Amino acid sequence: MEIREKAPAKINLSLDTPFHHQDGEQEWRMVMTSVDLADYLHIKSLEDRTDITVETDSGFLPCDHRNLAYQAAKILQDKFHINKGAQIHIKKQIPVAAGLGGGSSDAAAVLRALNKLWELKLSLAELAKIGLKIDSDVPYCVYSRTAHVTGRGEKIAILKELPPVWLVVAKPKISVSTPTIIRQIDYTHLVHPNVNAIVNAIEDDDVDALIDNLGNALEPITAERYPEITRLKKKMIKFGADAAEMSGSGPTVFAICRKKSRAQHVYNSLKGFCEEVYLVRPLS
Ligand code: ATP
Repeated sequence: MEIREKAPAKINLSLDTPFHHQDGEQEWRMVMTSVDLADYLHIKSLEDRTDITVETDSGFLPCDHRNLAYQAAKILQDKFHINKGAQIHIKKQIPVAAGLGGGSSDAAAVLRALNKLWELKLSLAELAKIGLKIDSDVPYCVYSRTAHVTGRGEKIAILKELPPVWLVVAKPKISVSTPTIIRQIDYTHLVHPNVNAIVNAIEDDDVDALIDNLGNALEPITAERYPEITRLKKKMIKFGADAAEMSGSGPTVFAICRKKSRAQHVYNSLKGFCEEVYLVRPLS
């Protein structure tokens, strides 16, 4: 038995981290949405073997226990004493270590697929709870809908679909380690975005308020190490974007545009500066 499962990239329309817990984990306040840039997974249940294998067409990824897709299969296999194995193939389209949650989305796709293949009958909420053990973005990725995410990543409040906008996603040629950026946080100087304003903008279908309130508390930290991020944002605005912001801990930057023609212009203009550029829409 086998299943094909899509693992969409996410972007952070707003990202704040007001404090960290005593065990070192972050408290998050985020609004995330998923876009039509995705990895494609092919997951097969092995009926007469118990090993888990991961293959990918990307040269940048580990295929052993370090792969988040492997961890998702292993966690389900152990928790439910499954006497079967899994073969996972990942067609990687989402840039790696980019702030687009590719690893977490792959893990969430494996949870959804094996839930069906192994007939576990778990709800999305139960899968999300299991996913939190892998990474704080996995619970969100189990749903992959526009959502207000709080706590350590486990509290997911699904929001309305985004009002109609176009997005241009651009990844500069650098990789950013999320733990390295988090270690640099100085809470006394952290600039907190207005996360609630984004939640309200979505609930009110208010594109202007959405555009005015994008924010990411980690951006000044990543941008200080990598000035390319600020340069890219400025270019996006110069080429006609209504707003531009960094996603996750970076380095990916996205532009938001009311009109497709503007987004197309931003996309075409950035192609000369940046190898990895995508014109995408939020998932409906
Ligand atoms: P986040 O925003 O959740 O921190 P990210 O988008 O910045 O994630 P990922 O692409 O998920 O970054 O990769 C983060 C790390 O996870 C990389 O070091 C990568 O090697 C590792 N990793 C493990 N499995 C995967 C996977 N299936 N896809 C991508 N990265 C993976």
